[in-house]
Amino acid sequence: MIKEIAETIERDGPLPLARAMALAANHYYATREPFGTTGDFVTSPEISQIFGELVGLFFADLWARAGSPSPFLLVEAGPGRGTLMADMLRACRHALPAFAEAAQLHLIEQSPRLRAIQQRAFPSAIFHERLDTLPTDAPLLFVANEFLDALPLTQFERTDLGWALRAVTADGWDLSTPANIQLVPEEIRDAVPGSVYERNFAAETLVAGVARRIAAQGGAALIIDYGYSGPALGDTLQSIHHGQFADVLQTLGEADISAHVDFTAMARAARPHATVYGPIDQGVLLLALGIRARADRLRAAASIETRAEIEAAVARLTSPGSMGRLFQALAFTAPGWPQPSGFPTSTR
Ligand code: SAH
Repeated sequence: MIKEIAETIERDGPLPLARAMALAANHYYATREPFGTTGDFVTSPEISQIFGELVGLFFADLWARAGSPSPFLLVEAGPGRGTLMADMLRACRHALPAFAEAAQLHLIEQSPRLRAIQQRAFPSAIFHERLDTLPTDAPLLFVANEFLDALPLTQFERTDLGWALRAVTADGWDLSTPANIQLVPEEIRDAVPGSVYERNFAAETLVAGVARRIAAQGGAALIIDYGYSGPALGDTLQSIHHGQFADVLQTLGEADISAHVDFTAMARAARPHATVYGPIDQGVLLLALGIRARADRLRAAASIETRAEIEAAVARLTSPGSMGRLFQALAFTAPGWPQPSGFPTSTR
């Protein structure tokens, strides 16, 4: 656990998990290079350029069918090294130059260190710490991959006395704060002591905010992350240190801390404002968007070793036993916007 968190606990007492996680993520992304083969984790855009290319074409196609509004805001939350956006823009410049020309790039990024990297990659990008400062006068296309999982999570634990909020102390979890029972869904309130229920209020607020803006300004969002359809019991909080699972509390601030995303809750947050599609498996989406055809094109021009790498990357991104099913995709659009490709009919 980093000093800043230990000192906060010493001063203020047990720290609600969401606050501890916010401090931890801040420190972690500001000080470490988590991405790539030497880092703590590898994300889909870092596995293959095809991922970003397909996401780019997904948006370009939707934008063209919506009447090619120009200009529009192309917004990414948590771009990391910028790989997804770079692949999106390259594919779109090639396939539909008018899309790339009409795009005004806005990046939501908290880490000053990652911001500097992103600024070098996208000199014209406008940076934001939060959603609130985005312009309100143009349609927005919003993308986030492995962003929501990093937002501060709230955990409730069932104790012998009822539900408690999980808080962090110097030497373990604290359960002395009773939870507001209204926040725990009725169907799981009777769970056995020790059961954990998760809500990510920060993620719900973000998704609702994006959906509200999209409804007002026009546009669409695509959110991809690892997750499940809640409500469910279970502690999904995880800490990854140099590619290995580590103890969450011991490594607070020094490792990548994240939690699986409840996509039912995300869809619910968007639904009052937008037309919701999915969630569906990442593998299903990528196959529907044409990952096979694109991989075949790339393979045709590649060396034998590169061909094998392309195949392995496609399998990793799409197969149910790898990232194809654990990762889920959710889309939502402004009322009146066309249906996004790759998704079955709206789940409204
Ligand atoms: N989307 C990238 C990186 C995912 S890592 C990829 O797929 O490779 C999470 C990213 O979100 C990092 O860029 C991190 O700095 C950023 N981030 C985490 N919490 C944030 C917050 N509360 N506000 C803004 N950015 C945040």
